[in-house]
Amino acid sequence: MNFNKIKFGASGNPLNFFKSEFGKDRLGVIEWSAKLGLNAQERQMTYGARMKEDDAIEFGKRARKFGVSLSIHGPYYVVLNSKKEKVIENSIKELIKTTRLADLMGAKKVVFHPGFGRDIKKIIEGLKEVEKEKPKSVVICPETTGKISQSGDLNEVLEICENTECEPCIDFAHLHARGQGSLMEEDDFRKVLVEIEKRLGKKSLKDLHCHFYPIEFTEKGERVHRAVTEENVFPRFESFANLIKEFKMAPTLISESKNTQDIGALEMKRTMEELR
Ligand SMILES: [Zn+2]
Repeated sequence: MNFNKIKFGASGNPLNFFKSEFGKDRLGVIEWSAKLGLNAQERQMTYGARMKEDDAIEFGKRARKFGVSLSIHGPYYVVLNSKKEKVIENSIKELIKTTRLADLMGAKKVVFHPGFGRDIKKIIEGLKEVEKEKPKSVVICPETTGKISQSGDLNEVLEICENTECEPCIDFAHLHARGQGSLMEEDDFRKVLVEIEKRLGKKSLKDLHCHFYPIEFTEKGERVHRAVTEENVFPRFESFANLIKEFKMAPTLISESKNTQDIGALEMKRTMEELR
């Protein structure tokens, strides 16, 4: 296992960051993450790709200086299969804007939620439009989403990737929630990895972009994120960790553990370190 190639990071700015000496500087999360021992960070642009260009450039400079690999979570209001033509148009524009900001900061991946419902033809068409305009260095990553009403079960995400230049973002908590608690044993996770490898190949699996944290769900899927510091919450990273070794992966592991993204990311790092 190439432990040094695995990326561990927090999603957004955790509570502990705001409490720290770095918390007053809105770009300080890079240095704070690096000091903790994390080497990735997922910038949240879930409410809009609105960062100033100068800030994006500065953020990227710091990321390179401190050895932190960046990704961006794109806006929630992107809906590439909306019934309204105007919404699709705006979604395409917004995704392109996000990839340009990603390019400015040197982020390689832009994660997004593809849309609603089971029609993914329009999503693929929209992504092809985005791909004409986006910087070459940036890869768009449709995410496996948590609510059954959303587009983005595993099959749909893989189908989108098969028909575009996209790579998947596998949010394991969302898969678990959609599947009504489907990711408990190591074998449950293995099935997911085997399917990704079969459909997209070894390279996509090796570089997989992952979200991992515990979640609570209802019959409709995702209800709320839970924290790794709580008891009896699932899915659990220990059930997945061995497979990273078995499949010779070097994934990016982003924690969205509720208010404790830093603690979640550090726990994953510690677990992998023990398997070294
Ligand atoms: Zn997401």
